[in-house]
Amino acid sequence: MKINNYILLIAIFFSLSIAVTNPLQAQTNKLKVVLDAGHGDTDPGTSGNGLIEKKVALDLVLKIGDILGNDADIDIIYTRKKDEFIGLSERADIANKAKADLFVSIHCNGVSSVSAAGFETFVLGTKPNRSDFEQNMDIAMRENSVIYLEDDYEVTYGGFDPESPESYISFELMQEEFLDLSILAASHVQTNVIDNLKRKDRGVKQAPFLVLRETYMPSILVELGFLTNTVDANYLKSEANKKLMANEIANAIRAYKSDINLVSIEDEMASMRSEDSEKKSDFIFKIQIAAGSKKIDTSPSNFNGLENVAVVFEDNFYKYIFGETSDYMEAQDLLTIAQDKGFDSSFIVAFSANGEKVSVNKALKSKLN
Ligand SMILES: [Zn+2]
Repeated sequence: MKINNYILLIAIFFSLSIAVTNPLQAQTNKLKVVLDAGHGDTDPGTSGNGLIEKKVALDLVLKIGDILGNDADIDIIYTRKKDEFIGLSERADIANKAKADLFVSIHCNGVSSVSAAGFETFVLGTKPNRSDFEQNMDIAMRENSVIYLEDDYEVTYGGFDPESPESYISFELMQEEFLDLSILAASHVQTNVIDNLKRKDRGVKQAPFLVLRETYMPSILVELGFLTNTVDANYLKSEANKKLMANEIANAIRAYKSDINLVSIEDEMASMRSEDSEKKSDFIFKIQIAAGSKKIDTSPSNFNGLENVAVVFEDNFYKYIFGETSDYMEAQDLLTIAQDKGFDSSFIVAFSANGEKVSVNKALKSKLN
């Protein structure tokens, strides 16, 4: 029964995606951004240390909107501006009907472990082979479970059950054509906040969020921090800090806009149609795990068991590099492996084909050109 519902759902999605005007067509002039404050009213989301997710999310969204409201080339659409309940599919409907160019959903994390902390940005996906899959899955299941509060959720979501693993099987099909652009937007948000606000970096990740699946445009979901962690919660209690964070996210949206304005629509469509494997391999992502003035032997015993560490001498420092991939999401996975081994301040670095170091966002952008 569930499988049949799924096939029906997929058929509906594909017919809809043909009917919807391509959102990229609007990107040469105004960028239409949907700001989605998670939860609301009877659905408070998670809570901890005196903070409630629905309030923090709305607060951030309104601040981001205020900042971007001054930009003549950006249009803002809100899914909610007050404390009200809105279903996940309704949020996506608002974005789809507006033919938005980018969907940004704002949430906060909360888990039973008080030590879990940090800022992370999600794009849609399911990758069971990834090292942090179960953790990401837990976050997605928690966020998706809000549909239980909607009347007729079985009908609205085609028999989807947030807590049933088999419901997630066909998830990834839905947003594939927007994945590169979603990753680009997510990486701007993540880089801005981590570089400028020194939050704990949990990276850009993929997880099966229902609200992202239902939109027909590049879409990201931001988890601002863990309300259950005192460091994160104290940060988010400060009005000044929330303004700083809103400013970084607003600037990330501006940066994303200026990136995609450089890309012609024809090239964009071509790159969306083809697998484009040779372009993707033009840039290589690696993980820088440590740097120092002293050269250390790169055997695993010196790096908490991490294998295949390489060393390069650059700017008077020995830099220790782990892993190599042309796939940015795989690089995120390598980053998690390095962090799990205790290299908390690891970060992704990008290199061009001739070995020149480039910014990660430039490498991501080049995939779209
Ligand atoms: Zn949430």
